[in-house]
Amino acid sequence: MHKPSTALGVARDRIPSQPVTLVRPHAARRAARFFVEKFPGRSLYAVKANPSPDLIRTLWDSGITHYDVASITEVRLVRGLLPHATLCFMHPVKPAEAIAEAYHVHGVRTFSLDSVEEVDKIVAATATDGVSAADLTLCVRLRVSSAHSKLSLATKFGVGVDEAAPVLHAARQAADALGIAFHVGSQAMSPQAYADALALVRAAIVAAGVTVDVIDVGGGFPSIYPGMATAPIERYFAVIGRAFEDLPVSYSAELWCEPGRALSAEYASVLVRVEKRRGDELFINDGAYGALFDAAHIDWRFPVALVREQESRAKPVGFSFYGPTCDDMDYMRGPFMLPADVQAGDYLEIGMLGAYGCAMRTAFNGFGNGETVIASDEPMASNYTVTEATPAKVTPLREVRS
Ligand SMILES: *Cc1c(COP(=O)(O)O)cnc(C)c1O
Repeated sequence: MHKPSTALGVARDRIPSQPVTLVRPHAARRAARFFVEKFPGRSLYAVKANPSPDLIRTLWDSGITHYDVASITEVRLVRGLLPHATLCFMHPVKPAEAIAEAYHVHGVRTFSLDSVEEVDKIVAATATDGVSAADLTLCVRLRVSSAHSKLSLATKFGVGVDEAAPVLHAARQAADALGIAFHVGSQAMSPQAYADALALVRAAIVAAGVTVDVIDVGGGFPSIYPGMATAPIERYFAVIGRAFEDLPVSYSAELWCEPGRALSAEYASVLVRVEKRRGDELFINDGAYGALFDAAHIDWRFPVALVREQESRAKPVGFSFYGPTCDDMDYMRGPFMLPADVQAGDYLEIGMLGAYGCAMRTAFNGFGNGETVIASDEPMASNYTVTEATPAKVTPLREVRS
């Protein structure tokens, strides 16, 4: 880490030959405050989007007290960083050893599941001397549609509404607090996704006739990428808040969400160098095995900008990228819009890589460990209008137990 900087400053002063990660703690703070102040419930950070310790500490300092973790490695990581954070183990299929360590060693009390078998596994793994735990919050993951989202999460996990009743009954029996969780898919393009999912939650509650203490609407809140126009996040919050108020849940029921992308996308960008130009193809020094996995594999269109002292006057045209490895698959189709005169030796900033970008780097082929620099300038796009001067306000903790 070095002193605060900008993309242009880093390119000019260091002429880096490796990709440089530019991190913007101020953007992460702004996103966290936005959720803490405006979401009508509690916001859990989904750690898989970006497990950077610096980011996690920044979110904690900005009022994010709860963390959605999905592996024992994430449990250990966050517990090591934040001894007082509340960790929620929200992977519906967990090894018994991971559940036991999370409960007995790291104080985890909240677990998600989507089958009766997983309820039994959790009950067995959290028992002490044959006595069942009396302090579990169990969240049943419901399968909902990903129709409104850019990245589906609809097939792997979740019990369908029609099969949910036995799972809800088993979880109710074993739990101190019962929750229903879902995920509408990542980058949900419309708030309607949550309204539709909450209608399924209502149907599941009515069919099972159980008392529910937690409604967890998951992640999916969008960030700003080229060509993906979404409603303002406040609209999502309003739709969710209204639907939650109408649910037949216990009087003291809590509303949770689990943003990953929305809390981390603006945190990081990557400064790359063009090593070669071949027509409209640019050979750059980061790629599919680095921070650009989603650009290569699901054609995600990250924002790009030419970083030059003297702004180019050339008209923008569409480029595709090759990454640094020897692999043909290390290819990002784009089109990424850049001035037509971009050439070898130029630097590019690729934005919004704080979510599912930096987190997915590998060291394949000897590429992948560049420097990290704190940037003080603005991210390439921002969804948040809360200013730095707004003081952090932590939602008062309301006990789940009623
Ligand atoms: C990935 C994931 C999230 C975060 O999703 P985003 O779309 O990044 O907000 C939240 N909850 C669960 C269970 C997840 O798997």
